[in-house]
Amino acid sequence: APAARSGRKTELPEHLKAYKGVWVFLEHDRGHVHQVSWELLGSARKLADTLGAEVAGVLMGGPDEPLAQYAQEAFGYGADLCYVVHDPVLKGYRNEPFTKGLTDLVNRFQPEIMLLGATTMGRDLAGSVATTLQTGLTADCTELNIDPVSRALAATRPTFGGSLLCTIMTLAYRPQMATVRPRVMSMPKKEATRSGRIVEVEIGFEESSIVTKLLDFIPDASSNKINLAYADIIVSGGKGMKNADNFQLIWNLARVLGAEVGASRPVVQAGWVEAERQVGQTGKTVRPKLYIACGISGAIQHRVGMESADAIVAINNDPNAPIFDFAHYGIVGNAMTVLPALTEAFRSH
Ligand code: FAD
Repeated sequence: APAARSGRKTELPEHLKAYKGVWVFLEHDRGHVHQVSWELLGSARKLADTLGAEVAGVLMGGPDEPLAQYAQEAFGYGADLCYVVHDPVLKGYRNEPFTKGLTDLVNRFQPEIMLLGATTMGRDLAGSVATTLQTGLTADCTELNIDPVSRALAATRPTFGGSLLCTIMTLAYRPQMATVRPRVMSMPKKEATRSGRIVEVEIGFEESSIVTKLLDFIPDASSNKINLAYADIIVSGGKGMKNADNFQLIWNLARVLGAEVGASRPVVQAGWVEAERQVGQTGKTVRPKLYIACGISGAIQHRVGMESADAIVAINNDPNAPIFDFAHYGIVGNAMTVLPALTEAFRSH
């Protein structure tokens, strides 16, 4: 256990002993619960089992939103109970009422750990809730463990530009908060018949005290179309593709395979593809069944975003490229000739 190894005082301070349970903020938007919420319930279950604690989901939304239905799903993915808050001010995400709602719930029910997805909403909410509660938050974690003695959450995340992994423990504050990116944790198995408790909570919101107003929701047409994090097949191109014209070969193979197109950072920086297609530490984390990396060296900052793929195929003309150290299949060759050949082969089958 990290705390025990470092020789620090490992006993849980008396005033923190009232904090119990592992919570997951269940993010939903326009009728869908974000899949990262289920992934986090899987992680929460493991942490809670080590601690001998319960897993709770937190659902906040407008009066007409089917939060009870989402709670039933959450039980299937491992939650023991769900705190449900219905209020007109919670229709559509705004930072202020959601921060108030979540901090009130924490103050009332005192969870030991709280997890949120490192999504646009989760990142925004986690920061303001942690600051309001004056507690610790570890953002963008790639691994979560528990030190059973100190009950400290050991939250691991890349640091120093991705060249090191650091494990952060919040020993003296509760709740211990962490955000985790979509696709970093695996999906738990769903037990459709598993049940749990719904705890309806009233929170006294006042619309007049909220300075932001939600006037309309206009989806970003381009980012909506790109679903890299949850794609089953990704064909990804790097700087080795040399220019935007050659990058078209990536699109050709992707089209034939029904795949999404990904890219390394230099490709995005060169403007060959949209920023939403960047895979890696400062881009998306992906977990496809098949990841085809073309002209990508396999730098650590790229690797952390795609190494959980079930099968990685690397095409690179340098037999010593680092990507061959962790790819499952490698083709040493010129991507400009290998890609058209692969595209043709798949097209004719
Ligand atoms: P290169 O490293 O230049 O590799 C090109 C590869 O193409 C080489 O291996 C070469 O052998 C091969 N090649 C050349 N010609 C051909 C050919 N004709 N056929 C086949 N292969 C060929 N990078 C990311 O990708 N995602 C991130 O999120 C990210 N975040 C970062 C965050 C920080 C803080 C920092 C410092 C860096 C980050 N980077 C990120 C950049 C990262 O360090 C690498 O520079 C980058 O991943 C390299 O991209 P590349 O593999 O496309 O290019």
